[in-house]
Amino acid sequence: MTTKTKSIQNFINGNFQNPKSGEWIDNYDPSCGEVYGKIPNSSTVDVEEAVMASAKAFPVWSNTTVDERSKILLKIADGIEAKLQFLAEAESKDNGKPVSLATAVDIPRAASNFRFFGHAITQFASEAHESVGHQTVNFTLKKPLGIVGCISPWNLPLYLFTWKIAPALAAGNCVVAKPSEVTPMTAFLLGEICNEAGLPPGVLNIVHGLGHTTGQAIVQHPQIKAISFTGGTATGEHIARTAAPMFKKLSLELGGKNPNLIFADCDYEKMLDTTVRSSFANQGQICLCGSRIFVEASIYEKFKTDFVARVKALKVGHPSEKESNLGALVSKPHLEKVLSYIEDAHHQNAKILSGGNRVIVPGYEKGYYLEPSVIEVKTNQCKLNQEEIFGPVVTIMPFKTDEEALAMANDVRYGLSATLWTNNLNRTMRFSNELQTGIVWVNTWMMRDLRTPFGGMKDSGVGREGGFEALRFFTEPKNVCIQYS
Ligand code: NDP
Repeated sequence: MTTKTKSIQNFINGNFQNPKSGEWIDNYDPSCGEVYGKIPNSSTVDVEEAVMASAKAFPVWSNTTVDERSKILLKIADGIEAKLQFLAEAESKDNGKPVSLATAVDIPRAASNFRFFGHAITQFASEAHESVGHQTVNFTLKKPLGIVGCISPWNLPLYLFTWKIAPALAAGNCVVAKPSEVTPMTAFLLGEICNEAGLPPGVLNIVHGLGHTTGQAIVQHPQIKAISFTGGTATGEHIARTAAPMFKKLSLELGGKNPNLIFADCDYEKMLDTTVRSSFANQGQICLCGSRIFVEASIYEKFKTDFVARVKALKVGHPSEKESNLGALVSKPHLEKVLSYIEDAHHQNAKILSGGNRVIVPGYEKGYYLEPSVIEVKTNQCKLNQEEIFGPVVTIMPFKTDEEALAMANDVRYGLSATLWTNNLNRTMRFSNELQTGIVWVNTWMMRDLRTPFGGMKDSGVGREGGFEALRFFTEPKNVCIQYS
């Protein structure tokens, strides 16, 4: 298998197979805007087959010892690591992100996801409660749910796909999974790695196709007991509407519009370096990017000058070039969406300080490249600050007091993460308590410890992933109460 391969296939019952309909979808290389492969346009028939394979595998997998499950997950992690460069290049070609980023972040993290949950499951325990005086003891069994659905987005393809699959498998479930149709390649390549690691057939099934057909078929399948979804807020809402009346367990990791709050007492150079990254890493297509930058008025003009200079120095180029800080955006429709926000800036009394234009990379003229863009806004109420753009676009504006900064940070429908730059301990604790987000980073950004709960408040989602939270989601707690004499 090479990344030049034209067609990818569904992975069902340990086999690679074409969609039953015989229909295919074009797969584009964002770096040159050309079709480089075909993806199965799977229908309910393919999903049904995946569910049947899962149902057949479940009795054995759910009774496989924790040691054995752990061993297989660790082997999958090793398999991913052994193919690091190959997978990184495949991810970059599919998504447009720099190969250097996929090599340093995406693929190592996919391996870590399997390694982490391979270990975590061996430590997953439940409490016992002795009811003294009643001669009873209670304990909790943590049963796997059965067949679960995992649906992931295009921005961190293998990274987020495995973030769901690894805990689901570790907990003894069988999985029917769908990566984004925009970036299915590394999920496809994972199938072979799972076979090599000895994952039994049917335990993991990967079905490719469109969200509203293949994804919808997974969400509404009566035998699928839980849905773990990462993607846009509107899609999450639609999934909840379908799955909630069926009483499915739901984990929804949705959009973000994260504040980056910069105070004058911060470590300025560290803040500046990190803010460039938290604004434009992965072309700004990370749900955790700090897209609304608020700066204390006393350092606003200095920050503006320094930040814009640093952003102008970033190189947009072909993802395979080592010097490229930003690669291509993921797709043409997404590029057009991001551009439409930039074009609308002047209607909102906002000023483009840097960027705002498409970049033509010689030799790749039809690629989806965009300059990293900094826009100065007058109010947090403008569309640029209220809607998720999910591209290389950040806004900046000054604030005068802590109260004003906190109010603006919270005045948005999303609540995924916030970054705070200050050396004041009291402010740190006040903001940590009062920011309406699932994650608060202080003097850092995107430092991840996989044991911590990950997820958002408000329209950024429901539930938490990570650590034992994920294992709790993928298991059903059953209380057993025994009376003795
Ligand atoms: P989408 O919501 O468009 O898609 C996410 C996944 O859901 C894709 O696999 C998609 O398939 C599928 N899907 C679409 N419609 C349905 C449906 N009706 N039923 C079932 N599945 C469906 O999100 P994007 O892929 O555009 O990803 C970007 C979004 O993800 C951003 O809003 C971003 O903030 C969010 N995100 C959130 C994170 C978090 O942890 N909170 C992390 C990363 C991203 P297809 O692509 O084939 O249409």
